[in-house]
Amino acid sequence: MPARGQDTPLSGLPRVDDLVAAAGRLVERHGRPAATEALRRAVGDARRRLLDGDTRAPSVGDLVAAAGRDLAARRPGGPRRVLNAAGVVVHTNLGRAPLSAAAREAVWQAAGYCDLELDLVGGGRGSRSAHLSPLLEEACGAESGFAVNNAAAALVLALAALTGGDEERAGPPGREVLVSRGELVEIGGSFRLPEIMAASGARLVEVGTTNRTRARDYVTGGSTALILKVHPANYTITGYAAAPSVAELAEVARGAGVPLVHDTGSGLLDDAPDPWLAGEPSVRGSLCAGADLVVCSGDKLLGGPQAGLLVGRADLVDACRHHPLARAVRLDKLRIAALVATLEAHLRHAADTEVPVWAMLRADPAALALRADALARGVGGRVVDGASLPGGGSAPGSRLPGPVVRVDVAAPGEAAAALRAGDPPIVARVDDGALWLDPRTVDAADDAVLADRVAAVVSA
Ligand SMILES: *Cc1c(COP(=O)(O)O)cnc(C)c1O
Repeated sequence: MPARGQDTPLSGLPRVDDLVAAAGRLVERHGRPAATEALRRAVGDARRRLLDGDTRAPSVGDLVAAAGRDLAARRPGGPRRVLNAAGVVVHTNLGRAPLSAAAREAVWQAAGYCDLELDLVGGGRGSRSAHLSPLLEEACGAESGFAVNNAAAALVLALAALTGGDEERAGPPGREVLVSRGELVEIGGSFRLPEIMAASGARLVEVGTTNRTRARDYVTGGSTALILKVHPANYTITGYAAAPSVAELAEVARGAGVPLVHDTGSGLLDDAPDPWLAGEPSVRGSLCAGADLVVCSGDKLLGGPQAGLLVGRADLVDACRHHPLARAVRLDKLRIAALVATLEAHLRHAADTEVPVWAMLRADPAALALRADALARGVGGRVVDGASLPGGGSAPGSRLPGPVVRVDVAAPGEAAAALRAGDPPIVARVDDGALWLDPRTVDAADDAVLADRVAAVVSA
């Protein structure tokens, strides 16, 4: 091995101190200690490569860039804003529902000190749920309403509270929950119903079969605490299949003197005639049909922030509200603010213009066609009659017909990767050997940026 100081590739490696001096932006962004460590690792890697026989010593720029990549991987930051050109409206991987302008403003306002638990009139202690409960009740047509961290938490809480899942209240009412075998499913993101039920302390009694369950399969007894119906939100069983309606199950539950709890999933507030909503249960519809307690999500078809709603009979909602687990799954001020603003838009019947999920789902076909035309011209693609997806465990199997832009490129997967790697990242669809862009899920204000970026990637 050559002696120290001799003219070898190793001796060409810069000193870490000199690198730190040359890496002003890394130091500014990540702080001196982390930047120095990353540069030290970059030099160490380079030294190992040279000892392994690499003959070219990296430049200062190479080493700073390597340290930058290293830090970016260790501290990914974000979540970052992305453009959703994939056409999936409630896109789980993209944060589900984008918030309305009013909800964003409400989050901003609540971010500092706010009257979360202060009664501004009397000056005494207020309740965080007082901001939300009256709106939930009005929007859902429910006697009482309460919101927690997410729908999975709402379901655990409901089962724990209504089955005496806490040790003190063991014994009657019974701990058993009757649920159809066809509904014991995994609803994406490892939401496995049997595991959720087990976590609550409830005992599961499966009734019926995977494809067919009838009302008479729900045989209640002294140890039955409640009947649970779960909307199969991300799949449909077609063919020889049957499940009892909410009304039929409500009758069984009433006869047995136990509550019917319905997990409707999407947070669709009211029945609506849109064809793609066929079969999607609404909160109000379920309560009207006789469900005693409805559990649903706040960030699917409700179009708000991540949240889980519990609405229905006041005694059942109160049991949830006062259960010790409620404290562990409570909402923070930012999401209460966003949920209030979202519910207010629904109550004003302004969701179609103000709540982005609904604005996209019910976008004017003529406006979409114009935007698709402009996009196709901008990127050298062509407009095809296609479809968007409601997505995110809402309206499974449904498609929203609409114009989409097909861009024929040699390597669509690479083009999609380049779009994701840009700023802002763009998520497009790859299918049938082409790149696809759906204007429905893009904010019209971003159309120009989308067209420019895609054009640049396609021509590269
Ligand atoms: C999405 C969904 C859930 C889970 O909702 P989270 O808010 O993600 O916890 C539960 N049940 C049904 C039927 C769903 O569709």
